[in-house]
Amino acid sequence: MKKLFILMMASILVMSLLIGCGSQKAAEQKAPEKKFINIATGGTAGVYYPLGGAIAEILNKNVPGINATAQSTGASVANINMLKDGKVELAMVQNDTAYYAFKGIEMFKDKQVANMRGVATLYNETIQMIVLEESPIKTLNDLKGKKVAVGSIGSGTEANARQILEAYGLAYTDLNPQYLSFGEAANGLKDGNVDVAFVTAGAPTAAIQDIAFQKKIRLLPVEADKVDALIKKYPFYAKQLVKANTYPGQTTDIETVAVKAMLVVPENLDADIVYKMTKAIYGNTDRLKAAHKLGEGITKESALEGMPIPIHPGAEKFFKEK
Ligand code: GLU
Repeated sequence: MKKLFILMMASILVMSLLIGCGSQKAAEQKAPEKKFINIATGGTAGVYYPLGGAIAEILNKNVPGINATAQSTGASVANINMLKDGKVELAMVQNDTAYYAFKGIEMFKDKQVANMRGVATLYNETIQMIVLEESPIKTLNDLKGKKVAVGSIGSGTEANARQILEAYGLAYTDLNPQYLSFGEAANGLKDGNVDVAFVTAGAPTAAIQDIAFQKKIRLLPVEADKVDALIKKYPFYAKQLVKANTYPGQTTDIETVAVKAMLVVPENLDADIVYKMTKAIYGNTDRLKAAHKLGEGITKESALEGMPIPIHPGAEKFFKEK
């Protein structure tokens, strides 16, 4: 009798272990695989960084199975190289830089990146040249020999600085170029270590607001004939006004040029995932607005304006839907 009881107990134990194992296995099989989406943004004092953070949050909340994180980077050129090397799955970049990469020209000469596709263009990025109010520099013609913050190494800003200086007949050899992030450039202006800072970013840009709250600043214009020459040579530039009072103490409108910010993905990213990501972003633009004022202009209707490279089929599917 006792033997029988022990036998029964033992078989119950074995059975429950087996059932336990089985259900654990089933649970393991059911758990969906997490898809990691690393998002390349820019420096922390720009616009890419807060918007990229908001995009990560939107994806994590709205696309099951996605684990998204945004990271600070050197911006456009660096982001495209990271995408090419498979280090990130989504990147914020300038549309002019994306075009150069896709065609293998300018800074991507002999380094073409053809495995990149567009998701959407987002907002205008204004090329802003900042000096302190009391600076003797009145126009871009006055930059010879000056300490010029031209953007981070690997930024789209740096290429814009080079092209704009070129329109004014200036090369880096004529001045003292400094490869600084927007935040470093802002500090340099405050300390007198930088005479002019180039910033290609959505306006208002945090780094510029930061200086303007502490010191009086001026924005330098790009003169009309130079604007025309730039657009003729580099068609991604468009005329752009920085409206008065975009920054504290900036009392007049300033004419300059702008490019567009956009999102890119690797060509081989699954179309269903890209579709879901695009749908989640455009279904939650309120979150983008909360991250930056420019989120207001991020709409489905304007998402293909200035698209410089082929669009990813997953994003295309979303934009074609009524
Ligand atoms: N457009 C800038 C660049 O690629 C970055 C702008 C930002 O960080 O908001 O240089």
